[in-house]
Amino acid sequence: MNDQDIENNLRTVQAAVVQAAKDAARDPEAVTLVAVSKTKPTETIHKALLAGHRSFGENRVQESLEKWPALKDAFPDTQLHLIGPLQTNKIKDVLGLFDVIQTVDRIKLATKLADAMAATGHRPDCFIQVNTGEEPQKAGVLPADADAFIRACVDDCALPVRGLMCIPPADEEPVLHFALLREIARRNGLSGLSMGMSDDFEAAIRFGATHVRVGSAIFGAR
Ligand SMILES: *Cc1c(COP(=O)(O)O)cnc(C)c1O
Repeated sequence: MNDQDIENNLRTVQAAVVQAAKDAARDPEAVTLVAVSKTKPTETIHKALLAGHRSFGENRVQESLEKWPALKDAFPDTQLHLIGPLQTNKIKDVLGLFDVIQTVDRIKLATKLADAMAATGHRPDCFIQVNTGEEPQKAGVLPADADAFIRACVDDCALPVRGLMCIPPADEEPVLHFALLREIARRNGLSGLSMGMSDDFEAAIRFGATHVRVGSAIFGAR
């Protein structure tokens, strides 16, 4: 994809985000477009940065460590979101690089994140991933366990928990999952909702998404 395509795609998706927010009588500023740049090379991401975009998501720690330190040096106001699994032995690698960790989903990870935050002073915002579809192969805390897990992260670990994140099952109506995530966030007093991807971000915004994670609609097919 050339520079112009990426810039045009960004403008188109950003305009759709604003329109969806307005249609839902929401403030467009309250929705962050996280451009998911996984598998895309540094040169491609650079084009989006030059076009003025500053929020990005990656799902692999190792790939992020290869691509992002130089990009963040060049564009220090960039916000980088981890949207894929985090192993506890990688925590020290991610704390200085990611601004938001969207995939907190088990107590061992929460505890070790809290220890590493205290040791390093880096305190990236955290989202708790909820496996709304209860899919065995998918990460995330089960809906029935979500309230207790959120309390443990906030009260026992003192993590800076900002909201919840979900990845609905590919073959189900996503809005049922968006509604479930919104309800779990509401009853736990959390305002952040990371939900919605290329195919369904407008619906997610209608259901209250504060962060939509859009990859292929911006960067093309992977
Ligand atoms: C890849 C990915 C996305 C973006 O998916 P698209 O369909 O390309 O927009 C969003 N969220 C997560 C967790 C992902 O891994």
